[in-house]
Amino acid sequence: MTVTKTDADRVPASWGLGDGQAIPWDYAPAPENREIVHLKDRYGLFIGGRDVAASDDAVFTTVNPASEEPLAEVARGTAADMDRAVRAARLAFRRRWGGLPGRERAKYLFRIARILQERSREFAVLETMDSGKPIKESRDVDVPLAAAHFWYYAGWADKLEYAFPGRVARPLGVAGQIIPWNFPLLMLAWKIAPALAAGNTVVLKPASTTPLTALLFADVCRQADLPSGVVNIVTGPGEVGMSLVRHPGVDKVAFTGSTEIGRRIAAGVAGSNKALTLELGGKAANIVFDDAPLDQAVEGIVNGIYFNQGEVCCAGSRLLVQESVVQPLIDKLKDRLSTIRVGDPLDKNTDVGAINSRAQLEKITELVASGVAEGAEMYQPACDLPDRGYFFRPTLFTNVAQSHRIAREEIFGPVLSVLTFRTPEEAVEKANNTPYGLSAGVWTEKGSRILAMVRRLKAGVVWANTFNRFDPTSPFGGYKESGYGREGGRHGLHAYVRLDDR
Ligand code: NDP
Repeated sequence: MTVTKTDADRVPASWGLGDGQAIPWDYAPAPENREIVHLKDRYGLFIGGRDVAASDDAVFTTVNPASEEPLAEVARGTAADMDRAVRAARLAFRRRWGGLPGRERAKYLFRIARILQERSREFAVLETMDSGKPIKESRDVDVPLAAAHFWYYAGWADKLEYAFPGRVARPLGVAGQIIPWNFPLLMLAWKIAPALAAGNTVVLKPASTTPLTALLFADVCRQADLPSGVVNIVTGPGEVGMSLVRHPGVDKVAFTGSTEIGRRIAAGVAGSNKALTLELGGKAANIVFDDAPLDQAVEGIVNGIYFNQGEVCCAGSRLLVQESVVQPLIDKLKDRLSTIRVGDPLDKNTDVGAINSRAQLEKITELVASGVAEGAEMYQPACDLPDRGYFFRPTLFTNVAQSHRIAREEIFGPVLSVLTFRTPEEAVEKANNTPYGLSAGVWTEKGSRILAMVRRLKAGVVWANTFNRFDPTSPFGGYKESGYGREGGRHGLHAYVRLDDR
């Protein structure tokens, strides 16, 4: 039975009897204790194993997006600092790390993995404070997966000959890595773990709105006795990132972020010998066929677009639904949306936390306004947003046309656009009608249909009857404007080695 309710009936609500009737349900506050985090007033750069100020002593402030409170001052690195960091990485590569047997490198990676696990609560709370993501996600997804990447690549460090049978895998040298703000620690792990396992040294530039877990990771490197210079972390604005990309001492560039900056980075390495991997934006189609288990699909759709406030490159931001099940699915989705809790990211009951920055909130607001102006129908559950901080209601658009901006552009927010289709051919055509090609989802009970869809969808990752599942053993990356190269799994290792004949 499907029960359609008014907004007034929906708040506050939670599923109760399984009959579609929401029962009013208040949650007691369950705040995570932030005392486990010892914030410093000021953080330096991590170069050559030391905590150093920027060459001109400049700093910037990182704020908590949920409260707009300043958290700490962070060194604003310069091109000269980047040069220092690359030199430190080169020295460490030549003198120590590049020649260290794989089994010795593995010991350090295992140690880092263990320390990340031991300090997981501290990392989770700090990640949530600096990024705005809900504590239950940083605690249950980001930090455990980051540790899992170190465990996984530690296992490969002394087995490169099995990863690439018949070839000799040699490290590339110094890897310059630039990461975004949506999964700060996890992206660090995706990049640093395979690079170190393969024998490279690293200079990493975190995003300016989320530098703190990377700087806490510097502490983990010290605790693990990682030789100095193997990992260097330089915080600062985008142009400092570009000085890393252009630095002649860098052998490999790895970037995750927007397609626009990805293009500039590709231009920056063009004509050089540097290896490059780009993990860029996405506009994934999440396709629901009429034989799909709808309740399960609703959970997958919600996870696909509202997880991490929708600030996910592979978010299922376009929902393609077979026409015969549109209405029941939308009803169920609206019911489910009314139970999503938006608010304090440090509260363990929060599902959707704060948007990472004011700029990102403005971008989401502008794109949502364009959806309304272009004629799509907007639904937002009635929920109270905190007075301060960068919050946005989970949003659902129906009557969306392919030409609408909300169906074409990456919103990077909790905004779902629903489109419909009649036949599998139409679903494939609509799903592939995007300049991106990072991920997709298929919901159906037929295995043969899943396989047929997977073959035809131009997306680096296709999830079947699930969404947003990650595992260190599994390669991840895109086609078209979503970038090139793969991270994760053996493929992720490949990006950090040169393969010679025996
Ligand atoms: P950016 O691509 O600008 O930022 C990603 C990283 O690149 C950050 O570390 C950033 O540093 C750095 N950077 C910025 N400019 C340069 C440059 N010229 N050269 C080298 N590095 C640079 O993403 P935004 O933060 O501006 O987000 C804009 C949009 O990008 C989002 O709305 C979203 O659509 C998309 N995006 C996609 C991501 C993905 O995972 N695919 C991740 C993040 C954003 P700094 O933070 O100092 O500017």
